[in-house]
Amino acid sequence: MSHRRKMYFNGDDCKFCNGMCCRYVLIEIPKEPRSKNSFDELVWWLFNPNIKILKIGRDWTILVMGKCRNLNDANRCDIYEVRPDPCRDYPPIEDGCHFDRLSNIEGIIFNNAEELLTYLAIVRKKEWAAKWLEKLRKN
Ligand code: SF4
Ligand code: SF4
Repeated sequence: MSHRRKMYFNGDDCKFCNGMCCRYVLIEIPKEPRSKNSFDELVWWLFNPNIKILKIGRDWTILVMGKCRNLNDANRCDIYEVRPDPCRDYPPIEDGCHFDRLSNIEGIIFNNAEELLTYLAIVRKKEWAAKWLEKLRKN
C-alpha cells in the first residue's frame, strides 16, 4: 500500500518518463464501497495481478495495468499523429500527471488483496477482513 502526493506536470516530463500513462487504464467505481459485499468485489479484482485499486478520499478507482499496443520499445506512440482524444487530453492541467511508475497519484494505491484487507482490518476495524487476511496468509 502506498500513499501519494500530488505534483504538477511540466511538458518536459514526458522526455524522462517511460510512457506510464500508456500503461494502464482507469475504471471509476460509481459508488463508494461500504458494505462487505462491495469490498468482496474489490478483493476479487485484486486477486488478478494486473489490477490495482486507487482510493482518493471517497473516490475509488480500478487501475487495469497493461501496455497500450501502440507504445513502442522507445516508449513513444506509434500512432501519435492520429492518437485518440483521451490521449490528446492527458494530462489534465488541473490534475497533473501520474509520471513514471504512478509516482504522482494522490491517495492510496492497493497493489493486492492483502493490502486492501490490511487497510480494512486496521483502519476500518473490520473483523471479517482480519479473518480473511489470516486465511490468505496461510495459503
Ligand atoms: S505519464 Fe505523464 S510524464 Fe509520463 S508520458 Fe504520460 S504525460 Fe508524459
Ligand atoms: S494510442 Fe499512443 S498515446 Fe494513446 S495510449 Fe496508446 S501509445 Fe499512448
